[in-house]
Amino acid sequence: MAPPKGIMERLDAGEVVIGDGGFVFALEKRGYVKAGPWTPEAAVEHPEAVRQLHREFLRAGANVMQTFTFYASDDKLENRGNKLSFTGAQINEAACDLAREVANEGDALVAGGVCQTPSYLSCKSETEVKGIFKKQLDVFIKKNVDFLIAEYFEHVEEAVWAVEVLKETGKPVAACLCIGPEGDMHGVSAGECAIRLVKAGAQIVGVNCHFDPMTCVEAVKLMKAAVEKAGLKAHYMVQPLAYHTPDCSCQGFIDLPEFPFGLEPRILTRWDMHKYAREAYNAGIYFIGGCCGFEPYHIRAVAEELAAERGVLPAASEKHGTWGAGLEMHTKPWVRARARRDYWENLKPASGRPLCPSLSTPDGWGVTKGDTDLMQQTEATTKDQLKQLFDRQQRPLVVSLSSKMAAPSARLIQAVRPHAPLIKFPNRQGNPKPNVQEALKTLAVNFQQHNTPSAPPPPPPSQFARPHVPLTLIPGSPDTLASVQLLPARYRRRPLNTDEMEFIQRGGPE
Ligand SMILES: [Zn+2]
Repeated sequence: MAPPKGIMERLDAGEVVIGDGGFVFALEKRGYVKAGPWTPEAAVEHPEAVRQLHREFLRAGANVMQTFTFYASDDKLENRGNKLSFTGAQINEAACDLAREVANEGDALVAGGVCQTPSYLSCKSETEVKGIFKKQLDVFIKKNVDFLIAEYFEHVEEAVWAVEVLKETGKPVAACLCIGPEGDMHGVSAGECAIRLVKAGAQIVGVNCHFDPMTCVEAVKLMKAAVEKAGLKAHYMVQPLAYHTPDCSCQGFIDLPEFPFGLEPRILTRWDMHKYAREAYNAGIYFIGGCCGFEPYHIRAVAEELAAERGVLPAASEKHGTWGAGLEMHTKPWVRARARRDYWENLKPASGRPLCPSLSTPDGWGVTKGDTDLMQQTEATTKDQLKQLFDRQQRPLVVSLSSKMAAPSARLIQAVRPHAPLIKFPNRQGNPKPNVQEALKTLAVNFQQHNTPSAPPPPPPSQFARPHVPLTLIPGSPDTLASVQLLPARYRRRPLNTDEMEFIQRGGPE
């Protein structure tokens, strides 16, 4: 069989290249990666688990098998009490072999991946940080990967160092920052970041992780515009989260209170992925993949949306009728009624969590490289260090401000612009605002027979309550008061009292 076409050949020819998903998140949920260090020892410890995940992404349509070498540098493998059970070289070698084995089963390339280092966060020198990338690179050369990806960098300075090391191999180099449209953690704009990466030698630039697909596409659009304006040439890639993050600030989903163990309600559906794939393609981004939260079915959705452009459906589509067509075989008639595109395209999925807010307040401690709080250590975090953090979390604003003032790079941190959410909410200005008291009265009349206490009483209002957002109806949504009143009695909840309504509007317990 002829060797598969290289990454540059494909992109130069205008082909769509589909990436895979984020392995540390997927394998953490399967029990092979520890959340916290997020290191890839599983490449040696559980090769069958890593191989299977590669295979599922390949079957879902991925053209790139990224080596499972995220955080596989010696300085990260031995950090904050994580013990070096295998050397970085052992893990990198095993990961290369697994990616190659599965890539050879289909039309896929192997990409050797490096990412940001604790050494950079701890203000080590350029030479020291570059030495860390060089060690991983030696393995990638020995194993002859097809191309290289420097990804998940919060600071463009470190990403540029990585690109400078990787490009010495002569292999194609892709570079992704984990930033949004606001730029890197030192306030360098997304466009300027891209220009610096291209000038350093990256042929493909973009973003991965930290933000939802639409936010990442927005960031790459800014990069593309700036690179073109500067008269430079590049290809573009995007590998976002599979989580909705409209409420994130510049640090992305790390700041969300739900990170990393409560993110499930934010997961994109396969239908959301269709929109993402189309948006990325329309923006001229032709290397389209995923990062944390992506499961193989998300990649399959990307491949299905772009099947016409790619001229092929993925193998996994054998078990997936286009736009829900498989439901035609369902036994229940109302489920068969869902075997159509407009049903799934227009669905607004419920979370099933009546007391949960749809948006959170991100932490925003504002520390980044240059701040003493980000200095790393090989020893385990001590009880005393933990207590300081727990105390600080109780008093977030005051402490983080004073810490920022003490930081040598306080001015740089302040250069990061405040976040303006990209999500477009419907214009509700002309809509009548329902009067909560009136609504409750009407409900009380209709639901009197169910007015028995079945739910626990709401907790007392917190002194830290956020400002209330007025309750408004969104046009077109089915859950109007009238439709609620039409529900059969067994589906009704007892009416809310004003305390509960306040509790819900506040977004649950503080
Ligand atoms: Zn990620």
